[in-house]
Amino acid sequence: MCGVSDTTINRGNVHYSVIPLDSCLAFAKGLAEAGKKWHSHVLSPGCAHNPYESQYAIVVEDDTEHRAYIAPSDQFPEVDKDLVKILHGDDILDASKTSAASGREAIASAMLDRLRLIDSRNVHWHHHMNFPDCVFNPRPGKWSITIESDEGDFFESYDDEPVDVLREVEILYFRNLEKMQSARTGCRPKTAYTFRHHAPVGLDQRRGPAVCSAAD
Ligand SMILES: [Zn+2]
Ligand SMILES: [Zn+2]
Repeated sequence: MCGVSDTTINRGNVHYSVIPLDSCLAFAKGLAEAGKKWHSHVLSPGCAHNPYESQYAIVVEDDTEHRAYIAPSDQFPEVDKDLVKILHGDDILDASKTSAASGREAIASAMLDRLRLIDSRNVHWHHHMNFPDCVFNPRPGKWSITIESDEGDFFESYDDEPVDVLREVEILYFRNLEKMQSARTGCRPKTAYTFRHHAPVGLDQRRGPAVCSAAD
């Protein structure tokens, strides 16, 4: 397919074909136009799935062909927001649609409760939305949301796409990212900021078989 180089890179048991960052959106749309199922991820530096130690990456998975494509990025790849909106709807990043902001009943989710707790203590974390065919999914066949954190990894699985749970997680994540970005570009010296690579712990806390290991 257009934009796919011959370069490949492995991480754990996942084999990625490398694509250019600026082709990710067109690449994903091309999969959709070809009638294929797809989804995407952003990988942070230090993420268990990221083969690039100090870079971000966008992963686009072709769920129909079971192939994974990756594009490294020096900065947070803003195209992630476009991809997430295509996958989950324009209001997936809309803070006014969270349960607290909209006055709706709180969402019953043990994962969210634990995430809010560690987030309130400024524990470093990021998440992955696992589609049923996702190569990172700890419960293949179900939908899952996985959290990697400095205090261990945990996940929750669902029979249906957990859009409302995901929105809560995305809003928290982007709030933290914006704080981090303004700290980097604001009055603090650039050297004040470092990525905290979490220790390879926590996958043992997962309730199901892990498809990959943070120790990779
Ligand atoms: Zn990760
Ligand atoms: Zn995936």
